[in-house]
Amino acid sequence: MKILCIGRNYVAHIEELNHEKPTEPVFFMKPDTALLRNNAPFYLPAFSSEVHYETELVLRIGKMGKAINRKFAYRYIEAVGLGFDFTARDLQNKLKDKGLPWEASKAFDNSAAISPVFVSYDELKDKDDIVFSMRKNGNVVQEGHSKNMLFKFDEIIAYLSQFVTLRTGDLIFTGTPKGVGKLEQGDLLEAYLGDKKMLETEIR
Ligand code: ZN
Repeated sequence: MKILCIGRNYVAHIEELNHEKPTEPVFFMKPDTALLRNNAPFYLPAFSSEVHYETELVLRIGKMGKAINRKFAYRYIEAVGLGFDFTARDLQNKLKDKGLPWEASKAFDNSAAISPVFVSYDELKDKDDIVFSMRKNGNVVQEGHSKNMLFKFDEIIAYLSQFVTLRTGDLIFTGTPKGVGKLEQGDLLEAYLGDKKMLETEIR
């Protein structure tokens, strides 16, 4: 399986990082070795002194597809979960300044935490506005509404599948709302879909 990630998908987050609003989705990938499962703790890596959390809705793909028409894109979503896209922001800024790819800052081991359980897309309530949030040490620091995404699930799937064949089990991180921030040793991150706790990660 592979992990595809969308960057810059919420206007307020683009503004907090002083980025331009994209006219097409921006995407990057993480390898399967980036997965952090079963609420396992995340160990801050030695190569960065500024790792950020990004809380995101994650789509799990239910069947293979290539060049998927936007009209049929929703049929490819099997389930929705939550994830943390851990990002070595200091490294990413250095790479960006040089015009280089971001992999070292995004694709490292355990940088893609996913919720142990995903909710079947068919059973998901409020599909038009999925609400999610993240509490850091008990305080809400991120809140997202899928209706505020620049590129919605169907556009993301149609766009990505022009370049990359989607397969059963692939994951798509759909971008983070505003409120990203630096992780400190001892932080506890808890992510909620609506009021249901889905994912928790302790930072060590
Ligand atoms: Zn992200």
